[in-house]
Amino acid sequence: MSYLLPRSVLLGAHVPDTVPAFIDNAFVDPGAAVRLPVHYPGTGAVVAEVAESDADMVDRAVRAARKAFDHGPWPRMTVEERQKILYRLQALMLEANDDLSRLECLHTGITQYSLGTRHIPRASYNFQFFAEYINHYSGRLYEQEDGYVTLIGRTPVGVAALLGPWNAPIALCTMKIAACIAFGNTCVFKPSEQTPLSLARFCEIVKEAGVPDGVINMVNGRGQVTGNALASHPGVDLISFTGGTKTGEAIMAAAAKGLRQVSLELGGKSASIVFADADVDYAIDGALLGIYNNNGQQCFAGSRVIVHTSVADRFLERFVARSKAIRLGDPQDPATEIGPVASENHRRHILSFTDTARAEGAEILTGGRAWEPGGSGYFVEPTAVLVKDNASRLCQDEIFGPFAAIQTFEDDDEAIALANDSRFGLAAHLWTENLERAMRVGAEMRAGTVWTNTPTVRDLRSAFGGFKESGIGREGGQSCLHFYTEERTQILPRRRPQLKRFAPGA
Ligand code: NAD
Repeated sequence: MSYLLPRSVLLGAHVPDTVPAFIDNAFVDPGAAVRLPVHYPGTGAVVAEVAESDADMVDRAVRAARKAFDHGPWPRMTVEERQKILYRLQALMLEANDDLSRLECLHTGITQYSLGTRHIPRASYNFQFFAEYINHYSGRLYEQEDGYVTLIGRTPVGVAALLGPWNAPIALCTMKIAACIAFGNTCVFKPSEQTPLSLARFCEIVKEAGVPDGVINMVNGRGQVTGNALASHPGVDLISFTGGTKTGEAIMAAAAKGLRQVSLELGGKSASIVFADADVDYAIDGALLGIYNNNGQQCFAGSRVIVHTSVADRFLERFVARSKAIRLGDPQDPATEIGPVASENHRRHILSFTDTARAEGAEILTGGRAWEPGGSGYFVEPTAVLVKDNASRLCQDEIFGPFAAIQTFEDDDEAIALANDSRFGLAAHLWTENLERAMRVGAEMRAGTVWTNTPTVRDLRSAFGGFKESGIGREGGQSCLHFYTEERTQILPRRRPQLKRFAPGA
């Protein structure tokens, strides 16, 4: 594998070696700030650095967003004017697909092919979707109160803090940014400190698209420093966060001060249930995709594969054979199916579950090891482990890597009980040819999304989010409308009413 290119070639002309903050449509280097390395997971090489925004820099960004909201044109524009800019953002992102997918690959290790064909088009579509959406929602009018008209409309909430994770940085952050600004809010967003590159390039597009100053601002840095300063800032009116459950708790505590709204999209440990009547070959395709896609780092991954005993032998034999044959390698090579995981720390975390499996006497069917073709890069072999007990940490903890915990079941009630025996509740995946079973079991799932016989299709109109420790609130068309706007009621008399008069003679 030869993908260690010179820095200038890796980054192109667009992103400086040091990623600064972006405030009022200009890049701002925080000067003597802490510098954090950005690693390419394919080799471990440092490809850029991030200049960390401290509390003062975060304050400056929030003030810019505040000014743009309180006094700027954005919340006051007509829908048509805002739409034009949102469509322009979409078009410019598609034009910059090569740049964006290259940068996204460099800091995540996700295959460039899937970034260019799925993540970037989806990220740009976020702006198209919300541009269309804002043209179609309407308020309500009540006339029941005799002589009065009551109008209920929606108005943007204000300044939003948007915090994203490293596993799909641009797709997830732009979902928040698009929804937030489409409804007339302004924002300060913070990508993960591990993955700032593509969103820095996105900031250039923001400027080029004609988004007014201060509407979209970016700060960078560690969660405890920059993230905490942003979530706790009193100038922030609402917080949307995607990341780990523990961090979600910290964000919620920060949001309690000042009673700010929060939306939390958190971790998962979703069941992928293969019933006796499943099309087994198709279910294998789906289960493999469910656990290994995006290098195994998906919040909604089908990471607990639960297979009916009658088809278990056939399923396991093929699932394991296919796992062994997956092409692991350079994420910039179009032939690669799985790239590296995000960081050395994360690989250590994933592989610690191999020790758990051994200690518990679980059967490691394949993988469970690092893969180091050239002695570098954060690769993990696609891993499948047969687990005896759902209480195992292999079934209860979010591993967030190419690591499937497989169990068997005897009947539907057992499958339902296993699937729901989790502190998470993000998604469930069902594989069955029986529609009635799909409907009945689907309705029993304590999970925000239930996919039947399909990979992870997501219609942006639908609500996406989790039960239990997988989060609070939902993202998607109507859910975002509710989160990013406040309802305001206005009451008008049809003719001036006769008022009761206090002290009329005074
Ligand atoms: P993380 O919680 O470590 O970090 C997410 C973001 O929060 C980062 O920008 C980080 O810098 C920031 N942060 C960390 N500590 C903070 C603090 N105390 N205050 C403010 N901000 C802080 O998550 P991660 O490791 O980047 O991402 C992986 C996790 O994200 C997994 O658990 C995954 O399931 C979850 N995730 C959920 C969804 C979903 O839609 N439910 C989607 C993708 C990822």
